[in-house]
Amino acid sequence: MSQNILVINSGSSSIKFSLFDMTSETEQASGLAERLGGDDASLTLKYSGQKTTLDLAQSDYRSTLSVIIDKLTEIGLLETLPMAIGHRVVHGGEYFSDPVVVSTDVMDKIRKVIPLAPLHNPANLAGMEAIAELYPDIPQVAVFDTAFHQTLPAKAFLYGVPYELYEELAVRRYGFHGISHQYVASEAARRLNLGDQHGIITAHLGNGCSAAAVVNGHSVDTTMGLTPLEGLVMGTRSGDVDPNLHQFLHAQKGWDIDQITNLLNKESGMLGLTGLSNDMRTIEQAANEGNERAQLALDVFCFRLARQIGALAASLPQLDALVFTGGIGENSRTVRAMVIDNLKVFGLSLNGELNADNGDEHGVISGENGPKVIVVNTKEELMIAKEALALV
Ligand code: AMP
Repeated sequence: MSQNILVINSGSSSIKFSLFDMTSETEQASGLAERLGGDDASLTLKYSGQKTTLDLAQSDYRSTLSVIIDKLTEIGLLETLPMAIGHRVVHGGEYFSDPVVVSTDVMDKIRKVIPLAPLHNPANLAGMEAIAELYPDIPQVAVFDTAFHQTLPAKAFLYGVPYELYEELAVRRYGFHGISHQYVASEAARRLNLGDQHGIITAHLGNGCSAAAVVNGHSVDTTMGLTPLEGLVMGTRSGDVDPNLHQFLHAQKGWDIDQITNLLNKESGMLGLTGLSNDMRTIEQAANEGNERAQLALDVFCFRLARQIGALAASLPQLDALVFTGGIGENSRTVRAMVIDNLKVFGLSLNGELNADNGDEHGVISGENGPKVIVVNTKEELMIAKEALALV
């Protein structure tokens, strides 16, 4: 009997999904419903090397999710309803340090932390509510981006602001990309035979970027904070800036909080620095062709990352391995080489040929001495499916 798990990532105007057969842990289909709520909503479905796109006449969450399940049934990938649905949930606040089966109590808690993730958590909830109405018998599991970082000690999660703000409003650092950091750290420890006692730094570099310090499988520090804006320079997000930048821009430009927040989240990072693109492939190509701003942006991206890796190392008993993952981490030999070049103080070095090949059979790209450097392809959707299977 097939064990089908559907993994859903509901956004404010999109639903990403993957269908897994867990008997073989293979992805059978994946897709994206986008521009939901608009006149031109569409659904793209990929399966068995094929890709089809259809228009969605009705594109609320309920109708869209029902079309997705009907389509997967129609093409023969679902004989019965999925045995569980795994939801990626962005923010679990301090409530969740592990995946959970969705219940009304769980949904209430996800609702309580909406102020911490005002765009994402309502969308995640809408997806759960739609499934509960359409298919009340399918168990749902919530897997949180923040959960892995709930092991951060207070010295790493508190900001230097009045403690009452933590008590009253839960103002603290949470961290994100936890599903990815957890998976690539454990996979690196396994591939490198690090045993139970180890110190690893993981760098998840995609459109959003964050790094984490992992000791013996537990996250002890990470670069993102209350929101995913903190930390590294990203595709369109600034990462760390002086907190007084808001006041300065307001005074000089007359911009209000919303304008500045939008600028820092959507118009900054690599896009803002290059004035060209948020896409690392485009930026690398431009830099190769002599575009100085593109080269400068690459320098900033890699230096800032190296600097944060140095800061994360303060949480480790020893540095055994540095892991690169995400679209950039898995593919960009240029970024990896530039980052390692800034980290000689830790004895890190690369094997140029292995780096050019994205690693040996284990993903290792480091030189002979010093901590290992390894590329591990992240599998966030499969991890969500595994967690869902384990709980139902
Ligand atoms: P993700 O969000 O994990 O899908 O990662 C997206 C980012 O990975 C984008 O900035 C892409 O340009 C980047 N990326 C994907 N492939 C490559 C590549 N071969 N070289 C450099 N960057 C890449």
